[in-house]
Amino acid sequence: MMGELSAQGKLFGADHLHLDHVGRDTFYGWLAVEGPRVFPDGDFREFYVLDNGRKSVPPSQLVRMVLLQWYDKTSDEESVVRSKFDLRWKVALGLEDHEGLCAKFTLQTFRGKLLLSQQGRELLKRSVQVCREAGALRSRKVRAALDTSPIIGRGAVRLGETLLESADPSTIGMRGAGEKEVREAMRLLEQLVEQDVEVREDGGAQLKQGVAKDRIVSVHDPEMRHGRKSRRVRFDGHKGEIVVDAESGTILDASAKAGNAHDAHGSLEAVERAEATLKAAWKDAPEKPSPENEGDPEVKIVETLGDCAYGSADNRRDFADAERTLTAKQPALHNGGRYTKEDFPRDDETGARTCPAGHRVLPRSRTRTWRGEKVNVPYCQWPAAVCATCPLRTQCLKACNEEDAKPRVSGRTLSEHPEETLLAKARAQQHTPEFRDAYRQRQTVEHRLARMMQLGARQARYFGRAKTELQWLIAATVANLSLAIGHKNKEKASNPTPAPSNSPYAPPNYSWGRITAAIRFLIAPGTTSLTKRDPAIRTA
Ligand code: SF4
Repeated sequence: MMGELSAQGKLFGADHLHLDHVGRDTFYGWLAVEGPRVFPDGDFREFYVLDNGRKSVPPSQLVRMVLLQWYDKTSDEESVVRSKFDLRWKVALGLEDHEGLCAKFTLQTFRGKLLLSQQGRELLKRSVQVCREAGALRSRKVRAALDTSPIIGRGAVRLGETLLESADPSTIGMRGAGEKEVREAMRLLEQLVEQDVEVREDGGAQLKQGVAKDRIVSVHDPEMRHGRKSRRVRFDGHKGEIVVDAESGTILDASAKAGNAHDAHGSLEAVERAEATLKAAWKDAPEKPSPENEGDPEVKIVETLGDCAYGSADNRRDFADAERTLTAKQPALHNGGRYTKEDFPRDDETGARTCPAGHRVLPRSRTRTWRGEKVNVPYCQWPAAVCATCPLRTQCLKACNEEDAKPRVSGRTLSEHPEETLLAKARAQQHTPEFRDAYRQRQTVEHRLARMMQLGARQARYFGRAKTELQWLIAATVANLSLAIGHKNKEKASNPTPAPSNSPYAPPNYSWGRITAAIRFLIAPGTTSLTKRDPAIRTA
């Protein structure tokens, strides 16, 4: 059954004795003081049988251990050792001197329960609330920025034959496996054969040339994919995405998607999740109007900032349909150095376009498939005779030099995209100073991704996307908590108050270490180093 922390804590707990030594303003100190409130035992009830069995390690301590593990980038083994011997961990976990928290298996089981109950996202929500309470997240109207970064998968990547060999049931330890496991292994082997092997004309088999779409690259983690950060930089694994408040850097949502997924894929859902988290963080806050919320207490993501990858026509349509503002750069138009669509101004009323030589053409219409539907798309075509005699034709048309053997049968053609209005608006918008000002704020998301990488989120620790997403969520939670602590410390430094430890009105916590040290001295004199420094205690 679930063990719970005593509200009074332990008399000789390190969080009482050594809190000031470790520092209240550190991550460890914050976990000691605020951890039990922010992550209470009651939130993890569903993990346990409540009326039977031995008492467990309190989950509020285990969740702190998970966070510490990410903060200090330790393995499970090392985390268990640190809980026994590292004073900072003992303070954060509220342990006594000769106490450890749990065995490695207990930590792993708890993390498994976090995964199965999808509590990882709940941890992130709490951290956003902490940022709001600390004053780091100030505004109810948020301009959100989002971006992705590669996560290198945990599974070994194999190519061609080696991949097929490693999927052989005899090599992956299927002996003694149940029917379900064997069926899964067979399905995987089938997929691998399909993606990598083809039948030759003579009936034999050979490895396929090229890379199959959505190719499985690892038998150990079949959810890993070949991905690209850029044309040259390639990776194997997953893609992590975060949505942050562009003003404060608070991470509002974190998720993992396939390594080969387009950045824009699922971005609207990510923004919607981020807004729900934001609303939860402001739920209990007093609804007083402030300059930040301009007298309107509604909590909302008012604008989303993304890079070029988020500016696809599809994504713009999704955001427009959801009545959300998406600010993303539109890639510059290229036409081999010749005139682009932007050089042919469009008349909004008639849709007619005028070419650089001043010839105006009315649009015609043709059918194209867009988002699974047949739609009519306008296009403009200039008469071949006009273009043939045009002095600007070399700057306008492809292959129209004198030596060109094939004469052109038509003049210049300009096709419009089914979402031309949205794209044209985005292209026009990105030359305005307002766009530049807003877009500058997007760099916050780059800084927060860098922080995630600092916390070890670049490398997946576990197999499978769900576990990798949990890892990504925990890293985001730690990043938010350290942001809130840093913000509080900065505020404290800018408004210094006299240290209360020597004041008769000091809060009891400040003297608690000395009180417990005195009690220990009375029980067993000479066991505390404080007596050497504090004549008052020595006299007592
Ligand atoms: S080549 Fe044709 S479309 Fe291009 S500028 Fe000349 S007349 Fe206009």
